[in-house]
Amino acid sequence: MKALLKVENLSAHYIVKEGTIKAANNINLEIAENSVTAVVGESASGKSTLIEAITMSLPPNGRISSGKVFYKDNDILKSDYEHLRKIRWTEIAYVPQAAQQSLNPTMKVIDHFVDTVKSHNIKWSNHEIRERASELLKLVRLEPGTVLDSFPNQLSGGMKQRVLIALALLFDPKILILDEPTSALDVITQAHIVKLLKEIKKNRDITIIFITHDIAIAAELADYIVVIYGGHVIEKADTIKIFKEPKHPYTKGLINSIMSILSKDDEPKGIKGDPPSLLNPPPGCKFHPRCQFASEICKKEVPDLIKLDDSSKVACFLYKSAGGDVDE
Ligand code: ATP
Ligand code: SF4
Ligand code: MG
Repeated sequence: MKALLKVENLSAHYIVKEGTIKAANNINLEIAENSVTAVVGESASGKSTLIEAITMSLPPNGRISSGKVFYKDNDILKSDYEHLRKIRWTEIAYVPQAAQQSLNPTMKVIDHFVDTVKSHNIKWSNHEIRERASELLKLVRLEPGTVLDSFPNQLSGGMKQRVLIALALLFDPKILILDEPTSALDVITQAHIVKLLKEIKKNRDITIIFITHDIAIAAELADYIVVIYGGHVIEKADTIKIFKEPKHPYTKGLINSIMSILSKDDEPKGIKGDPPSLLNPPPGCKFHPRCQFASEICKKEVPDLIKLDDSSKVACFLYKSAGGDVDE
């Protein structure tokens, strides 16, 4: 596997008046070129923080405590502002969570394209920008004739999400990162966005990373799944394997809960208990207060993310490494 993006021991936290929220802890990831990776986990598990740390777009009270992010063998966390500004969008395009609200209500859709081109100092004429924007809107199945001259509030949620995807593809990025691209949309519109992302994946030379709390959408779209719990990566595997043989008790719980919904069980099998506070997280394995297999060691030590085989890793004391890498 050729890794296009490599994250090494990345940790990030937020400073709040009560203390420090450790939202991403010692994260190691390798994203294969031209693959689709889904990052899944419950709300507040640290999914957005991880992506914001990778793209250096944490809010003002967010800090990267340690780690490296290699893109084409350069640590982008060490890049100067100019380099970072250049590769963001042209090479790594990122659509944040709830980005629909960031569309400027006083600007037409075309002006968002013009603004993005100008802010990257790219010398395209207005005619060229309009041509490119039209081509991309067609790609995301929108009618350029009407949409380009519309204001965001004249578009539905699904249309705005498509506009954002079109904008993100403006400079043909190598990596497209989408934070919850389908949340806040109705089920039919979600299905359209998933179909669209599948087409983009099929027809372009692109690596996609997307965040979702919906493991069913991850199953449809992703080649690989990364499961996050309490600010830690607790399992990584290819999608088929993770559904067939989930290893971590939390991943098993997640998958059981969707299976029980699909089979319309009278009593859906959710995971009992609440996710940990990241301000005062429990010691040891962050899942231990909810885990039926927890033993003494789980309450004291954080399990390493160990390699089980070529495509799967897990952080749980129930498993022994097959040898090779230990990531965390
Ligand atoms: P969701 O699915 O709800 O989007 P998430 O998995 O993306 O959740 P994050 O937004 O990364 O989770 O949040 C991780 C933790 O960091 C949470 O406890 C959250 O409250 C906290 N957090 C996020 N942003 C900030 C901030 N700017 N200041 C303080 N705490 C924050
Ligand atoms: Fe459960 Fe222990 Fe594994 Fe954590 S390390 S998931 S507490 S068995
Ligand atoms: Mg989020």
